[in-house]
This record gives sequence, C-alpha cells and structure tokens, in this order.
Amino acid sequence: MENKKKKSYRPYSHKRSTPKDVLVKVGQKFPLTIKRLGINGEGIGYYKKKIVFVPGVLPNEVAVVKVTEVSPKFLSAKVMSIREKSPDRVTPLDEHANIVGGFELEHMTYAAQLAFKKDVIAQALEKFQPRDWQSINLRDTIGMQHPYEYRNKAQFPVRKIQGELKMGMYARGSHELIDLPVVHTQDPLTMTVMRKVRDLLEKQSISIYNEEKNKGTVKTVVARASQTSGQVQLTFVTNTDGFPGDSELIQAIQKELPQVVGIFQNYNPGRTSLVWGDETIKLWGQDYIEETILGKTFQLSPRAFMQLNHTQMTVAYETAIAALDLKHADRLVDAYAGVGTIGITLADKTGEVRGMEVIPEAVDDAMINAQINGIDNATYEVGTAEQLLPQWQKEGWIADALVVDPPRPGLEPALKKEILRTKPEKFVYMSCNPSTLARDLVELSKVYRVDYIQSIDMFPQTPRWEGIAKLTRKK
Ligand code: SAH
Repeated sequence: MENKKKKSYRPYSHKRSTPKDVLVKVGQKFPLTIKRLGINGEGIGYYKKKIVFVPGVLPNEVAVVKVTEVSPKFLSAKVMSIREKSPDRVTPLDEHANIVGGFELEHMTYAAQLAFKKDVIAQALEKFQPRDWQSINLRDTIGMQHPYEYRNKAQFPVRKIQGELKMGMYARGSHELIDLPVVHTQDPLTMTVMRKVRDLLEKQSISIYNEEKNKGTVKTVVARASQTSGQVQLTFVTNTDGFPGDSELIQAIQKELPQVVGIFQNYNPGRTSLVWGDETIKLWGQDYIEETILGKTFQLSPRAFMQLNHTQMTVAYETAIAALDLKHADRLVDAYAGVGTIGITLADKTGEVRGMEVIPEAVDDAMINAQINGIDNATYEVGTAEQLLPQWQKEGWIADALVVDPPRPGLEPALKKEILRTKPEKFVYMSCNPSTLARDLVELSKVYRVDYIQSIDMFPQTPRWEGIAKLTRKK
C-alpha cells in the first residue's frame, strides 16, 4: 500500500509522477486490484504505481486485465477475467451494456451507483478544496424507484450493412453500428416508435445514407416523447434536401403510430460529426409537442433543449425551489435558461424573473412558454450570463436570487466576479459536472457558505452526475 496522502489517488489529479522504470507493452496481461471508480465510471488500479483505467470493473475486484494503451501518465486496459467479484456486481439488463456507451454502470447494483454519485462530488471537493469543504453536507443521491425507461429521446443512426438495416448506437471506440431492438434505459414509447420506423424504412425501401460513398438520404432518426402527454415528435435527419418516398412513409406512420403527432426533416448534408444540421422543416402534423413540468406547460420544437429524464428533472426543480425559498418581492435570475423551464416554474413565487440564454430559438421558446402559462413577470434575453448579468445590474436591476445551470465547463470568470461583487442573497447552482462545480466553489465560497450539495441521479446506469448546491451569503 502507498502511504502518500490519499489525495494523490484521486482521478481528478493525474499529477502523480510516473515511475520511469515501468516498461509495459500493449497486449501485456496482469492481475489488478481495483481501488475505486473514476469520474467516467471506469475502474482504477495501479500497476507498479502507474495508474490503470479499466472499464467494467468494480472497487475491490481483482481482475486479469490486458493493456490496450500505454501513455506516459497512465495505462488503459480491458478485462480478460474477474478473479474476485464484488458483491455489488450484477448482470446488466442490456446485452450490449459493455459494447456501446451509456451503460457504464449497469453491472453495478443501483444502491452502489447512487453511492458512487455521492462519492464523485466528494472526490471533486477534495481535489479543489473550496473553503470549509470538509464540512459541506453531501446529501445522499436521490435515485429513481425504477432506474430504467427514463430517456425521453432516442437519437439513433441508421445504416444498411450487408443488406441489413441497422438502427442503434456505435460500438465504443469503433464505427460499427450495433442494431438495438431493446434499450432498457429508453422510455418504451421511444423504442416502439423507433423500431416501427425502422421496419417501415425497410419495407418502403427508403434511401438510407451510405457513409463511405457519402450518398443516400436518411442518416439518423430522432424520436422525442412527452412523458406527461404521451405525444411523440419524429425527425429524420437527412443527407439530401429531397426525401424520396416521404409521403408514403408519412402515411404509414400516421396509420401505424398514432402517438406520433409531428414529423420533421432536418437537412444535414455530408460527413460530419454533428447529428443536426441548421435547417429543419415540418413534413406533417403539429409544430410542437407539449410537456408539463410542475403544473406548467412547455412547447417543444424538435431542436428545443429538454432534460432527458422527466421524473428526475422534476425532482431537481423541486430541490432548487426548496433551496431558493423565494419571496414574492425577489428578483430572480434564471441564468443558462434553455427554454425557460426553471424560471417559469418559479415565476409564481417571486417578484420578477429575468433569464438569459445564448441560443436565440431557445429564447423565443422561453418567451412563448411564459405567455402560454399566463406568466407576465418573466422575460428572457439572448446573450451570455457573463455579459447580461453585469449589464442588468449596471442599469439598476439588482438580482437578489440567482439560479445558474451551466453546461459542463461551468461558470465564466467574469460571471463569478459579478456574483462576488453584488452578492445575491439566495443562490442555487445546478451542475452537471462535479469537477467544475468544485472549481467554481473555490471562489464562490469566499462570500457564500455551501449549505449542502444534493446529488440527483438524472442518468441511471451511466456515470453522468447532476447535482444542486445551495449557497447562502455569509453574514
Ligand atoms: N436551464 C435549462 C437549460 C440548461 S442547459 C434547463 O434546465 O433545461 C445549459 C444552457 O446554457 C444551454 O441551453 C446553453 O445553450 C446555454 N448556455 C451556454 N453557455 C451560456 C452562457 N455563457 N450564457 C448563457 N447561456 C449559456
């Protein structure tokens, strides 16, 4: 055992100096004891003091592993056999769990997954060490009663491989498309629609995209379900701007899939790593599907952002509402607003809401969403949080309550500076990245006390983390 400080074992800090004498080759096999899980759910062990990452293994397991990558700082390896199994190991429900992404923890009991998600934020705090980090109350992760069938959107590429139509996900680290008739994390509504659409594409001989030749039409199919209304929105992402055979296809979908209320085509020509192109046209049906969150209605166009898990999104918003404890006179900022879901569900409880978001279409949607819910004290603007918050406050509109919900890179320095300057009394930080949350708390904890961090399992069976920090201005 090592006797250095525990900190140097943490997956965030790969600063460990690499012993120069470790000579390892790709293909080499050795037994490895797994010490813990890293931020991506991979097992971590040490071979002659060098860190080794191995997907699919659990803490305290002893596995025979085979080296797949040698780099100066770490080794990657795959499991050949497991000599000592963890009591937390279970058989994954999905046959493809260790082939495609999105099931990195499915071989672990759900209780152990929830414990992992609490540990991930603990590790991040230990790495960044914001003020009083050791006394921050880390609440037990809120999990789902049924941690499957939650994903409200399926976005699967389609390809014809040796005459067979496949629709699913790519095998990890390869370009092999795996046909996926069953995916236990998907809302069954999305899978029913996807599989039927797959059959119709085949039956009606619709042109399918061929990547090698960069020819053909349908590249990706996207089905998004409203988990409160049961409506489904269907989008075909195409390589060509024409869509031969689309009217027969639409007729068949109308007949066979009454849950589909709108069909769209998104034009995204050529070989590109982006799923969506800029142009979306409606082929048939309703412009939107409607989703309800905490009694408010939201209209979703095909590109509008919505959290993937309705149940846990609701839990997250309820947690944020409880943490903010708004008064009717408060001025609330909904920063990184998306289509305004957070601000609109909170508008009744506060004096005024102002939100900002960088995507103009999302801001348009947010304004419509405020309107259809009869909310007249919420406005949304296009722009960055770091630019608009200082501008509003300079003009005299001073926020006393703030919710931030940034993407993975966390808060811009300019935004943190403005928060530290004007110190809104109530502050909730929703985060999808424990690492940048812990980093941002280093500065924010100069002015704010972190009352608690509540982890919420938004993505069961995966290592993805989501959590809410309640901050209170220090006296
Ligand atoms: N709060 C919303 C959306 C969160 S996702 C919800 O709960 O659904 C984060 C959003 O921040 C994205 O919509 C993204 O477009 C937006 N965004 C990214 N950088 C931003 C910035 N600098 N300022 C404001 N919004 C930003």
